[in-house]
Amino acid sequence: MGTSDVNVSSAMDGEWAQVCSHMRDEIGDAAFDSWFKPMSVRSVDGGVAMISVPTRFMRDWIANNYLEQIQALWCAINKQVTNVEISVGNAQGGGILSQASAQAQKAPPSSSFSDRLVQASRASVLQNPAEELGAPLDPRYTFENFVVGKPNEFAHAAAKRVAEADIPPFNPLFMYGGVGLGKTHLMHAIAHHMREVHPTRTVVYLSAEKFMYRFIRALREQKTVDFKEQFRSVDMLLIDDVQFIAGKDSTQEELFHTFNALVDQGRQIVLSADKSPSDIEGLEDRLKSRLNHGLVADLHATTYELRLGILQSKAEQLGVELPIKVTEFLAHKIASNVRELEGALNRVVAHSQLVGRPITLETSQEVLHDLLRANDRRVTIEEIQKKVAEHFNIRVADMHSARRARSVARPRQIAMFLSKQLTSRSLPEIGRKFGGRDHTTVMHAVKKVGELSLHDQDFAEDVELLRRMLGGVG
Ligand code: ADP
Ligand code: MG
Repeated sequence: MGTSDVNVSSAMDGEWAQVCSHMRDEIGDAAFDSWFKPMSVRSVDGGVAMISVPTRFMRDWIANNYLEQIQALWCAINKQVTNVEISVGNAQGGGILSQASAQAQKAPPSSSFSDRLVQASRASVLQNPAEELGAPLDPRYTFENFVVGKPNEFAHAAAKRVAEADIPPFNPLFMYGGVGLGKTHLMHAIAHHMREVHPTRTVVYLSAEKFMYRFIRALREQKTVDFKEQFRSVDMLLIDDVQFIAGKDSTQEELFHTFNALVDQGRQIVLSADKSPSDIEGLEDRLKSRLNHGLVADLHATTYELRLGILQSKAEQLGVELPIKVTEFLAHKIASNVRELEGALNRVVAHSQLVGRPITLETSQEVLHDLLRANDRRVTIEEIQKKVAEHFNIRVADMHSARRARSVARPRQIAMFLSKQLTSRSLPEIGRKFGGRDHTTVMHAVKKVGELSLHDQDFAEDVELLRRMLGGVG
C-alpha cells in the first residue's frame, strides 16, 4: 500500500480535499456535513481509492447518492484513480466490515430500503454500446418519473417534442436553469425514450466535462481523427452542463465543429447549462449564436405546488406512506431545489425505516434540523431590495431605476452586496434583478461596500444590521 510514503499520502489527502470541496459546492453545507465529514480516505492503491465511513448505513447511502460523482471527480483530478470503494470501519486501518464499489456487481436479493437504494445505483451502470462513448443513463430519470408544473412545463414540452420527433424540431435544444431543477433528468429522459423507440440509433449522453477529458485524451494519444469520427457519427448527442467548457478554448472549438457537422446532417443535439447561452461568460460568440439558434428553454425555481407533486410521486416510488402534514411541511420548508427536497425525503424515510417507527412531523423536523436551518436562511433578492429600501427610506423601484444620486445609488449597492452574500445568485443574475445592470456593476458594488465598511464604522454597522435582519448569520 502506498500510504506509508509521505508524498503519496499527502497527494492523496490533497486530492480528497479537492473532491470534498467540489462536493460541498454541489450539495451544500448541510448535506456535506452529514455525509462527507465522517468520511476519511484510507489509501489509493492500484487505481483504487479506499474511503472509510463509520456505519454500514452510511456506506449504502453514499454508494447510492454520491459514489459515482466522487469517482468522476477523483478521476478528473487524478486520472489514475479509476475506482472508488467505500468500506465500513475506522480510518486507522483494520475493522473493515464490508465494501461497496462503484463498479457494477450483482446485489443479493433483498428488500430493505438501503439495499434498494444501492441496487438502484447499480442498475444505473447498465451497459449499452453508445455508453462507451457517453455516460450511463440513470434508469429513474424518465418522462414518467418527471413531475410537470408551471416552472418546468416549457422545458418538459420541448424535451418531449425532441424525444418523439423523427426530424429535429429545433436544433439544438438548449435547456438551462439553476442546480437541481431537473435538467439532467430531462436529458436522460430524452435519451431513454429515443433508445426505446429507435434501438438502432446511437444516442450519446455525456457531460461537457467528460467530453473535454475525452477530447484531451484523444489529443494526447493522437487519436483525434477517431474522436471526431465517433462523435460525428452519432444520431443524437446530449451534452450536459456546457458552462463547464466556458473559457476552455480548444474544447469549445471542437464542440463547435462537432456541433456543426451534426446539425448539417440533421442530427439532434441537446444541451444544458446553468445559464442561458448569452449569460455564460467565456463562451465564444459564434458558439453562443449557434446555441441561440435553436430553442432555448429555461427551468424556473420550483413552486410550492410542484414540490408537493414531486414529493408525492417520490414517496410513491419509494413505496412509503407520507402523511400529508409531512408532505406540506417539506414542500414548504425545502424550497431550494428538487435535489435537496429529494434528499430530505430520503433522509426522513431512511430514518423511519431504521428506527422502525412511522414518519411524523416531529421526527421529520428532528431528522432534518440542519437542513431546515440552512433553508430558513435563504432570502430572495426581492426581499433584500425591499428591506434595504425600507431601511433607507427610498422606493423599491429605485433598486431598478437608472437614478445615480448617492441617496439611492448607495442603498442599491448595499442591496447588491447583500444579494451576493446571502443568496446563491451569480453576478449576472443579480445585475438583471437590479434593472438589467451589467455584472461588472454588481462586482463594483460588492467591492465598494466592502471598502466603505472598512473605513466607515457607521456604514459598516448599517450593513451588518441589515444582514442580520435578513437572516444572515455570523
Ligand atoms: P439539474 O441537472 O438541473 O441540476 P437534476 O436533473 O439532476 O437537476 O435533478 C435533481 C434531482 O431532482 C434528480 O434526482 C431528479 O430526478 C429530481 N427532479 C428534478 N426535477 C424533477 C421533477 N420535475 N420531477 C421529478 N423529479 C425531479
Ligand atoms: Mg445536472
